Amino acid sequence: MLKKTKILIIGNGFGGVYALKNLHKILAGDENIELSMIGEKNYFLFTPLLHEVATGGINGANIIEPIRKVLGGSLRDFYLGKAEQINLKDKNVVVGEAIVSYDYLVIAPGAETNFFNTLGADKYAFTLKSIDDAVKIKNHCITQMERASHVLNTEERKKMLKFVIIGGGPTGVELVAEMEELVRETFSHYYRKEVVKDVSIVLIQRGPELVPQFGTKIRTKSLSVLQKKGVNVLLNTAVKEVGVSYVVVDENKKIDTETVIWVGGIKPASLNFTEKINKSPDGRIIVNEYLQLDNYKEVFAIGDIALFKDKTSALPALAQVAEKQSKTVAKNIKNLMDETALEKFSYHSSGNLMSLGQWMAVGEIAGFSFSGHLAWWFWRTVYLSKLISFRKKVRVAVDWTMNIFSPRDISKI
Ligand SMILES: Cc1cc2nc3c(=O)[nH]c(=O)nc-3n(C[C@H](O)[C@H](O)[C@H](O)COP(=O)(O)OP(=O)(O)OC[C@H]3O[C@@H](n4cnc5c(N)ncnc54)[C@H](O)[C@@H]3O)c2cc1C
Repeated sequence: MLKKTKILIIGNGFGGVYALKNLHKILAGDENIELSMIGEKNYFLFTPLLHEVATGGINGANIIEPIRKVLGGSLRDFYLGKAEQINLKDKNVVVGEAIVSYDYLVIAPGAETNFFNTLGADKYAFTLKSIDDAVKIKNHCITQMERASHVLNTEERKKMLKFVIIGGGPTGVELVAEMEELVRETFSHYYRKEVVKDVSIVLIQRGPELVPQFGTKIRTKSLSVLQKKGVNVLLNTAVKEVGVSYVVVDENKKIDTETVIWVGGIKPASLNFTEKINKSPDGRIIVNEYLQLDNYKEVFAIGDIALFKDKTSALPALAQVAEKQSKTVAKNIKNLMDETALEKFSYHSSGNLMSLGQWMAVGEIAGFSFSGHLAWWFWRTVYLSKLISFRKKVRVAVDWTMNIFSPRDISKI
């Protein structure tokens, strides 16, 4: 009997899931291929809408998709757990009790929150990387409102209701805009006026501008929209310490708060290799023009964990990068099997879109920037189309429609 070719993917996010989909497309019908995946969760999470789960705009269950549903027919095996050790020489990966062997390996475990060694941040700040994180943020904000409703001392109430978000990248900006929506549209509907007026939202950004990875127009527009919404944006401000009820910024200025959300950066997920591999100083796996590891041609790395140098600069940590890389990897695995020339990866951005609350978004496509209602409609259409199943698309569309006509759900779950 012919020996089957085993292709193994580590990670079930954008890179991993799309690699599997593309491999399935390219290799469809070949019974000598086995596609397997290792993932920490048994679902695919659509991260771009996570901030809306954290602010009650979307039900968390609507932005996840069970892996076995998405990839059912194409998957030989799904291993639920963490890839603990990768043995490049013997071509296998340890996950729990299992040792999974491979002929080709795609590494796509993404990234983790980077606190940059900020004192207390890992202990006291919320993060936004998972459904659990988003639900914790939502529950906490609601708890603070409930508690503050019975506090008579205004100063005490203001401290309880000061929400501090650290990190002025796209995630921080989108989250802050939605939080303002939550306060204005929903909290003001359910809580007394004098309580709601004590809510404040602070966005802290280390650099001189918000969303520095985007063009000038988007940077300027984001700042002006947030300021108009009443968000206190602190630019050129570095956080030194996060405590149980405060944040310390430059010049030892203390901000009293019981809510700190850290979206200030990411670092590559940690993986344990038995052999030494080339990594960048920040821990990303360096890949060549074909997205392979230099000394292991059957091993590819994509997404947030990979460092692919496009001309001189590294690519941004974006879902569209991981998705595009997954196409090249699928083709190159097929090319290796067919012993034909490999395809070089080159990245062309499809553009960037960012929501700034209800009816407002900003975008740039092919050097052209736009904002406003149309951009918002476009943002929603694009993200809706990217959700994997029709069922979840409909559910998110329903959640969004309901938000236009009624306050968000403030049940603590
Ligand atoms: C809140 C938020 C909002 C975002 N918004 C946008 C946006 O609007 N547009 C955009 O383009 N990008 C956005 N991003 C970035 C985007 O999500 C990432 O760039 C993209 O997901 C990277 O894909 P990936 O496959 O490398 O990692 P991921 O999609 O993160 O997938 C990695 C998967 O691997 C799993 N994993 C980790 N370690 C292991 C292990 N050892 N073994 C097995 N499995 C493992 C993880 O649990 C995860 O499921 C956002 C990110 C966040 C957190």
